[in-house]
Amino acid sequence: MKRSRRPAVEKPPPCRGKRRYRTQGDALDAAMIVGVERQRRAYHCPWCGLWHLTTVREE
Ligand SMILES: [Zn+2]
Repeated sequence: MKRSRRPAVEKPPPCRGKRRYRTQGDALDAAMIVGVERQRRAYHCPWCGLWHLTTVREE
């Protein structure tokens, strides 16, 4: 009996532990609630397919 090969263990995505949002609007809303929308940008994550917030530096 042949054993099916298992795919290699995937590395945890780099966004692990980050808060995820289902939509860009959700992410921006969350930033707005805590009053940091000016310093946050929502981006679509290629790893989990959801949205995260990243910090934007204001120069
Ligand atoms: Zn992600």
